[in-house]
Amino acid sequence: MALTERGVKVDRDEVFLEYTKSICPVCKVVVDAEVNIRDNRVLLRKRCPEHGRFEALVFSDAELYMRQLRFNKPGTLPFELQTEVKAGCPLDCGICPEHKQHSCLGLIEVNTNCNLDCPICFADSGHQPDGYSLTREQVAFMLDTFVAAEGSPEVVQFSGGEPTIHPEIVDFVAMAQERGIARVMINTNGVRLAKDPRFVVELAALKPDIYLQFDGFETQTHLAIRGLDLRELKRRALEACAEAGLPVTLVAAVERGVNEHELGAIVRFGVAHPAVRAVAFQPVTHSGRHLEFDPLERLTNADVMRLICEQIPEWFVLDDSVPVPCCFPSCRSMSYMLVDGEGVIPFTRLLAVEDYLDYVANRIAPDPAVRGALEKMFSSSATPGAERALVACEACGIDLPDAIKEIDEHFFMLVVQDFQDAYTLNVRQLMKCCVAEITPDGRLIPFCAYNSVGYREQVRAQLSGVAVEPLVPNALPLQPLLQPTRYGSKTARHANGNGHSLPATNVGQRLER
Ligand code: SF4
Ligand code: SF4
Ligand code: SF4
Repeated sequence: MALTERGVKVDRDEVFLEYTKSICPVCKVVVDAEVNIRDNRVLLRKRCPEHGRFEALVFSDAELYMRQLRFNKPGTLPFELQTEVKAGCPLDCGICPEHKQHSCLGLIEVNTNCNLDCPICFADSGHQPDGYSLTREQVAFMLDTFVAAEGSPEVVQFSGGEPTIHPEIVDFVAMAQERGIARVMINTNGVRLAKDPRFVVELAALKPDIYLQFDGFETQTHLAIRGLDLRELKRRALEACAEAGLPVTLVAAVERGVNEHELGAIVRFGVAHPAVRAVAFQPVTHSGRHLEFDPLERLTNADVMRLICEQIPEWFVLDDSVPVPCCFPSCRSMSYMLVDGEGVIPFTRLLAVEDYLDYVANRIAPDPAVRGALEKMFSSSATPGAERALVACEACGIDLPDAIKEIDEHFFMLVVQDFQDAYTLNVRQLMKCCVAEITPDGRLIPFCAYNSVGYREQVRAQLSGVAVEPLVPNALPLQPLLQPTRYGSKTARHANGNGHSLPATNVGQRLER
């Protein structure tokens, strides 16, 4: 096969970075994939024998991506594994013996029902008659599974659906705390917090961290992402949390062309609000239900970080974001800010964090006590207050301003987290995932595998007894193939691809449902 005219050799227009595995976004069979750099963008490309070639943007600043790879901490083994290696990654979740990291954060989705029906919902939840709601026994078993695997788990997050409408959610928080789990979070839309003062009082007694959905201030943002103008409701929820002393992380789903211009305003609002201790930005996960998107123009962590710097240049430059080393470094970046009256000082201006968390170059022999404290701060399990690790570390020698006595009250955390979807899934990244969906059958499934590979559909069908169609991202190039599911997400018109099994590897296989 002739590629070019003889005598004229032509260079490829991209730098080949790695060979890996992914899945076909349509039929979910495992396929070979490669990662390339083109025009300073990192792209993942793959080909399904049945559905053709796919390419997606995974990081929009290749230079930054390469710099971030040094923040790659060797993984830690959990005490227990839950599955065996049979078909290979990502079909053996988990955690299977091939996985490279323990789980910093465990998620329990207590129900599929919700009091909203957002146009964007990776859990594909809403006012639905046919989902599931976990029992107390199931939650107890899941917590025990997590404790057995982790010893003393750092964080459990209750999610859904909408966890606050589960009648036993307060008991679930208490059950997690009784098992010695250090931080318990509730991932909520805030509707019940705004409307039910008695519920807020019950929570106040247990002091869970509130992970509050908060996408911006404009009506259009609310309508596009949540289908309703929830601004007044969010204000009331935050007021209730402030009064009850519940620490809040604002969590914004960021979609291109919708609310990317509101990031700076969200950070400013959070810094000024008495209840808010952190902001987490998540480029919209194109799993479950979401708006139509172009996989080559999707928002990535690099875009979000750049937008934050552009919108609050007096506070941030790009180097103030530190890749989180416990997971794959391009998954999540974090910053801490010291808030002193009107002034904000990014933590990276006080300490050369990079010198401690660069695990490749090891340019200096880092003080293990400082490195240990920083690993706690820059971790997927870090919740507001994680900076206490540093205060406890006497060796750090950071000259904190005298005015700062109550350190918890003055640190503010910023997180940027890009979850993978069926387009962007890369097993290299997945194998080091430290965020686990705990399932009632006792598995700890890495979060991005749960949302992309078919595990979510499998678990929902098992728990509800109702068949769930295999989901396909609502991507521009796939439009001719797609049809809606009854929950508003998309499935393929012919979703029963035959798998193209190849004998020697798991390429060509998919999850049995
Ligand atoms: S993602 Fe991890 S747990 Fe799942 S199959 Fe791959 S290595 Fe195993
Ligand atoms: S995104 Fe959250 S609030 Fe919206 S429908 Fe889904 S579970 Fe409910
Ligand atoms: S949940 Fe996804 S994005 Fe987060 S650490 Fe795991 S693989 Fe990375």
